[in-house]
Amino acid sequence: MYSANNHATQPLGLAMMTNLLWKPGSKLRIGFKGGSIWQKDRVKKYALEWCKFANIAFTFVDSGELDILIAFDPTKESSSRLGVDCAWYSSQDQPSMNPNCINNNTSESLIRYAILHEFGHALGAIHEHQSPCVQIPWDKEEVYRDLGNHPIGWDIATVDYNMFSIEQNRDIQATSFDPNSIMMYEIRDNWTKNGKGVSPNLKLSCLDKGHIRLCYPNEAHDASQPNVVAARPKEKSQLATASGLDQEEATL
Ligand SMILES: [Zn+2]
Repeated sequence: MYSANNHATQPLGLAMMTNLLWKPGSKLRIGFKGGSIWQKDRVKKYALEWCKFANIAFTFVDSGELDILIAFDPTKESSSRLGVDCAWYSSQDQPSMNPNCINNNTSESLIRYAILHEFGHALGAIHEHQSPCVQIPWDKEEVYRDLGNHPIGWDIATVDYNMFSIEQNRDIQATSFDPNSIMMYEIRDNWTKNGKGVSPNLKLSCLDKGHIRLCYPNEAHDASQPNVVAARPKEKSQLATASGLDQEEATL
């Protein structure tokens, strides 16, 4: 497990599943299951932004073994598997990622957000509002009411799971809450007891960029540092997933 002690005095943001990180320097092979040329081009255009900061390469291929398999099914929620788990699903010909709002009805900024967010999951990040470091003073009754109504229509248990549950996995490494993270959901002002919500974040935050660089360092990085981790064998999937509100984010 990653030790946060070395970074106790500096905020890192991005809550990462350290046991699901890819090996730094990996060249991930990415394929598509359906989708138009226009949809695929959106993914290729925006996903690569992560590679400016992480020592990871994305290669888009038409055949062969895949690490990430992307579908564009509008009937299923927007989601992505976490980190190396993507490779297990892809090997079973099951999409590991489904950005479902890549269409002409979605603004370019939201398309960009959706792709960056789902690729954040694919690199091992969980939702920021479910980080063990988060302390949001929820006004739960307001959240139940707003998300229980049309068009989302969630019951209480679903709201509890998607909004209030905190990831307690021991392999999560996070040292600070970053409300500006691309992995953060929008939080309306009336959903908190102090009346302070979080606006939609449409781009990578400074902490997103800094922490992904630490998780995926380049070769010059000191290999003795604890943030260098080895990828797990693909067949040992923990079947972790990240989904939930992603589908509705574009409408909130
Ligand atoms: Zn998500």
